[in-house]
Amino acid sequence: MPPASAITPARREDYAEWYQQVIRAADLAESSPTRGCMVIKPWGYALWENIQRALDRLFKDTGHVNAYFPLLIPKSFLEKEAEHVEGFAKECAVVTHHRLEASPGGGLAPAGELEEPLIIRPTSETIIGAMYAKWVQSWRDLPILINQWANVMRWEMRTRLFLRTAEFLWQEGHTAHETEEEAREETSKMLEVYRRFAEEWMAMPVVPGRKTEGQRFPGAVETYCIEAMMQDRKALQAGTSHFLGQNFARSSEIRFQSREGREEYAWTTSWGVSTRLIGGIVMTHGDDDGLRLPPRLAPAHAVVLPIYRKDEEREAVWRYANETAEMLRRANAWGAPVEVRVDASFANAGEKGWQWIKKGAPLRVEVGPRDMAGNAVFAARRDRGAKEKFAMDRAEFAQRLPAMLAEIQDGMLAEARSRMAEHTRAIADPHEFEDYFTPRNPEKPEIHGGFAVSPWCGARACEDAIADRLSVTVRCIPLEGASAPRGSVCVQCGQPAEMAVPWAKSY
Ligand SMILES: [Zn+2]
Repeated sequence: MPPASAITPARREDYAEWYQQVIRAADLAESSPTRGCMVIKPWGYALWENIQRALDRLFKDTGHVNAYFPLLIPKSFLEKEAEHVEGFAKECAVVTHHRLEASPGGGLAPAGELEEPLIIRPTSETIIGAMYAKWVQSWRDLPILINQWANVMRWEMRTRLFLRTAEFLWQEGHTAHETEEEAREETSKMLEVYRRFAEEWMAMPVVPGRKTEGQRFPGAVETYCIEAMMQDRKALQAGTSHFLGQNFARSSEIRFQSREGREEYAWTTSWGVSTRLIGGIVMTHGDDDGLRLPPRLAPAHAVVLPIYRKDEEREAVWRYANETAEMLRRANAWGAPVEVRVDASFANAGEKGWQWIKKGAPLRVEVGPRDMAGNAVFAARRDRGAKEKFAMDRAEFAQRLPAMLAEIQDGMLAEARSRMAEHTRAIADPHEFEDYFTPRNPEKPEIHGGFAVSPWCGARACEDAIADRLSVTVRCIPLEGASAPRGSVCVQCGQPAEMAVPWAKSY
């Protein structure tokens, strides 16, 4: 018998269902009565707030400020940039009326048809562009470096919590620059911010690179991305940074007088990450007992669990628990006080422990009459087995807390890195490539494949053919190490390869 685990099914049995069950067990989010939209519950939202706080700091440290633009965009704005329209038209929610009236047959009916329909923003390039056009007259008005924290909507029929929902939360940076060089530099700078955030905060290793033509953001000249590998070995695009050239500046008429007195179009960029990152954390670090949170983003670093059997022990154990929490809060981790919660529920010891295992708290600290007597704690780390607990002097535990959190964080990154390395394989042979991405049992596909670093001629037709046949795409053209071995040929057409790139199935 395999050891019992808290989540059914296990990852290897049914990864997609495991993912849903982890989210439910950790109480991160659930589906809502509004089709395609999710409710982010307090534990999930606290995680998002920590993601926001850290990224917001990084954005401000790189010279950006926040602003807010409207949710509704006039239809004509979206029509300005042809490729952009084409890219988003199929997934836009459209507002056509501005009130409801009692309908003769009962209920309510939309009334007051709008002259021009409004679009719920799928992204805000066009409306922000319209404002920048007003704000920019001279080269002295540039650069504009603005970020917006907002919700957006992209109509989805097949949704999955955090990964694909009609409405989601994100940030979108929008910048306008005097020169192409400056805008390109901005695009790279923000990609690097995302790479750092993914690795240093989320403990999620990524491959930074450039998207192929087929996968570019609609209207962008270049799209850069970070690609991570989930535990089912599929890729997750976790953040994008777009160099928009002068495309949006032309359609929005963001013009300025240059230093030489000429009228010129600005160079713009946009970049974003979304609540999808939470899906990335679940799928990178979760195990068969539930969520595991990287300490640097965990809403609680340590949870104190008061444990007693007799009612008369209650008061003293509670006092000791709160005192312990206070001691731990005096410690600092990553420049801020350690976040500690005391579990005030009436659940028994076993249930309390499992609840926090499933929620992914990095450290659990049990305190009971015996620990009190010894001025100690009985602790457990989420990165070790559920039953692996250790007793430690309370003051010593408080003192070692920051180092333990750092060790858990580093361990999680190292584990994810080695998994990614283990399932990244250089494959030059077309048959081996095919085999790598084909499940043994098509009825019940097991976890298979990974990243195949394979030679490619660079033609879109070859990428499309492989996508049609195997649902595998070029995840990106890595910033480093994309050159093909001498003499290698494209895995699809056999023509000389221009580069060797990571191919994978993806979310
Ligand atoms: Zn080819």
